[in-house]
Amino acid sequence: MAALLRSCGAGSAKAFAIPRISSRALASVKFVPPLRFQSRPRSFCVKATSSEEEAAKAAAAVADTGAPTIFDKIIAKEIPSTIVYEDEKVLAFRDISPQAPVHVLVIPKLRDGLTHLGKAEEKHSEILGWLLYAAKVVAEKEGILDGFRVVINSGPTACQSVYHLHLHVLGGRQMKWPPG
Ligand code: AMP
Repeated sequence: MAALLRSCGAGSAKAFAIPRISSRALASVKFVPPLRFQSRPRSFCVKATSSEEEAAKAAAAVADTGAPTIFDKIIAKEIPSTIVYEDEKVLAFRDISPQAPVHVLVIPKLRDGLTHLGKAEEKHSEILGWLLYAAKVVAEKEGILDGFRVVINSGPTACQSVYHLHLHVLGGRQMKWPPG
């Protein structure tokens, strides 16, 4: 055992000592239910289920047909969304399946061929810059300027599911690196 502890880098068996916990102390431990954003894990790929990957592939297959996406309906206000920021070029609304206390999607109102970032051309540079600026405005409005993450999933390998370019603005909790 001592040899095993040494090989694990522990100086002594004390490093692995498990403190005694009285049954009274254990009884006082309360179960804390997970927060809403943790209850529907939808990871950015490593933890993606095969059905998510299949859905991402299926979405990619029709990406360049020009077919409208769910985001067109959100832009047209045909389906409800919780808008947190809007200007003449972009719309920002809460993700329906939040992965953090703050999870907002920022999209260009005019798709203009930008089904995904992999389709970006020089002519898109202005809107791409504006989307990043809008992400900062959203972070400011949401009170997460001290730390937030901006994610763009581009293509099926990145598990993109909606083929209308969008930035995920995530924050309100400690982020980890590397992402999944
Ligand atoms: P991605 O997987 O990067 O393409 O991200 C698409 C995102 O759109 C996902 O995080 C979805 O939860 C989100 N989403 C899909 N439908 C809606 C909707 N109706 N309202 C808000 N967010 C949505």
